[in-house]
Amino acid sequence: MAKATGSRRIEQMLLRLDERYPEAATALTHEDPLQLLVATILSAQCTDDRVNRVTPPLFRKYPDARAFARADIRELEEMVRSTGFFRNKARNIRECCRGLLERFGGEVPSKLEDLVTLPGVGRKTANVVLGNSFGIPGITVDTHVGRLSRRLGLSRHEDPVKVEFDLMKVIPESRWSTFSMQLIWHGRRVCSSRRPLCGDCFLSDLCPYPARASRKKGRPAPRPRKSGAPAAGTRRRAG
Ligand code: SF4
Repeated sequence: MAKATGSRRIEQMLLRLDERYPEAATALTHEDPLQLLVATILSAQCTDDRVNRVTPPLFRKYPDARAFARADIRELEEMVRSTGFFRNKARNIRECCRGLLERFGGEVPSKLEDLVTLPGVGRKTANVVLGNSFGIPGITVDTHVGRLSRRLGLSRHEDPVKVEFDLMKVIPESRWSTFSMQLIWHGRRVCSSRRPLCGDCFLSDLCPYPARASRKKGRPAPRPRKSGAPAAGTRRRAG
């Protein structure tokens, strides 16, 4: 197959990601923007599964921004302890909710520039909330998105904000939120940091990484997966 280049390559990438991960969305359990904001703060350096185990009792005890803002800090710390960095996270959640009460009437704002003024909320957290709760396009650059962007040749940068701006130049705006979620899913299922399954990846013929990695090791690049063959990350339907 001839190698797709430039915008054609991106187009192909988006099509295939849509095909594989049509419903990619955050795996953090939430019912409203505040719950997603709190869950995203807790998810730093922690798995979504762990966060999803911690949040149900947390959201029962603190049902709104006012309750979080008034929380006893020791009690809050205990409830989020298992997510790691619990002192910082508890403090950020309480201060963030105080900010919501003081400046936004207790509601989560739907603008990036407002969200990032809240304690503990950076561009990554803000974009998760904007994309998943408000349907506003935003590129979330977490560890998966950063790594995959570099491997796929979409950015050379390590700095998440620079990666975000590189992606904004080449990915259509309407796709920003979905694309980030799809890369996160692909990073978890196929393109892990330690062992990317390039030989079995549906993006391998569009991705410069396998050839680059092979050159480094002095080995021939793995052959791109044949079209029609089941790819890594594919879930077989029962029946
Ligand atoms: S070909 Fe390899 S490096 Fe590129 S996206 Fe697929 S698994 Fe990741």
